[in-house]
Amino acid sequence: MIRLLLMLLLVTAGASARSSDLVDAAGGELPVILTAPHGGLENVPGCSERHPAGTRFVNRPDAGTDRLARAIADELKRLTGRAPYLVIARFHRKYIDANRRAEEAYGDPGCAAAYEAYHAAVRGHLAGLRAKFPHAMLFDIHGQTAFRDSILRGTRHGSTVQALLARAGAPAITGPDSVFGRFAAMGYKIVPGNEDAPTDRVEAKNYAGGHTVDLYGSHRAQGIDAMQLEFGRDLRDGARLEQTAKDTAQAIAAFYERFLK
Ligand SMILES: [Zn+2]
Repeated sequence: MIRLLLMLLLVTAGASARSSDLVDAAGGELPVILTAPHGGLENVPGCSERHPAGTRFVNRPDAGTDRLARAIADELKRLTGRAPYLVIARFHRKYIDANRRAEEAYGDPGCAAAYEAYHAAVRGHLAGLRAKFPHAMLFDIHGQTAFRDSILRGTRHGSTVQALLARAGAPAITGPDSVFGRFAAMGYKIVPGNEDAPTDRVEAKNYAGGHTVDLYGSHRAQGIDAMQLEFGRDLRDGARLEQTAKDTAQAIAAFYERFLK
C-alpha cells in the first residue's frame, strides 16, 4: 500500500513537472507581458489530439511566434535594460489551444495540466504586475496568413484596453507613440488603419481579439490592458523574423516610454 502511494506520488510529481516543462514562463522588470499560445511544436504526453470544437477550429501552429516572442523580449531588454514578463506555450496547438476556453482548448483530460500551467503562469504574472506597477500591458503574439504582409490589432474594438483608453485616450492605440503608430511610421502595413477611432468596429473579422485578451483585458475587474498582435506570414519568414522582432520591440519600448512610465 505504501509502495503504491509512493508510486502515485512520483507519477503525480512527474506529470506536473512535465506540464510545466511545456510552458516557458519568466518574470520581468518591465510593466509588459508577452504571451505566445500558438507557436509550440512539442507533443504532450498523455494527451490526445483535439477534435473540432467551437467556431473556426485551427490545429496548425502560428509558425515562429514562440521564437518571435522570445526575440522581442530579448530586444526589449537590450533597449530598455529591463526584461518583459513572458509566457510561451511549447505544446503543439493540435493538442492544446491555450487561446481558447478550457471546453474548446483540448479534448482529453490528459491535456488539462499543461493548459492549466500556461494560464496559471499568466495569472501569476498578472498578479505580480498589478502589485508592482500602476499600469501594465499584455501583448498576445500570434501569426496569420490572411494578410501576409500586415500586422493586425485585436482589442475587441477597444474593450480589452478600456483602462488605457480611459486614462490616455485614442493616442495610446492609434497615435504616433502607440505601438501601431510606430509600426505605421516604420512602413508596416497595419489593419485596421490608425485613422479610425479605437472603439470603431473596424478590427479585422476573426482577428479582433481571442480568449486571452478577453480573459485578461482591462474590461475585467482583475485584468490589465491587453492587445492581440497578429503578424503576417511574410513578417515571420526566415531571417525576416529577427527584423520584425526588433521593430516590434522598438514600437513597444516607445509605447512604454510614453504610456506606461
Ligand atoms: Zn494564433
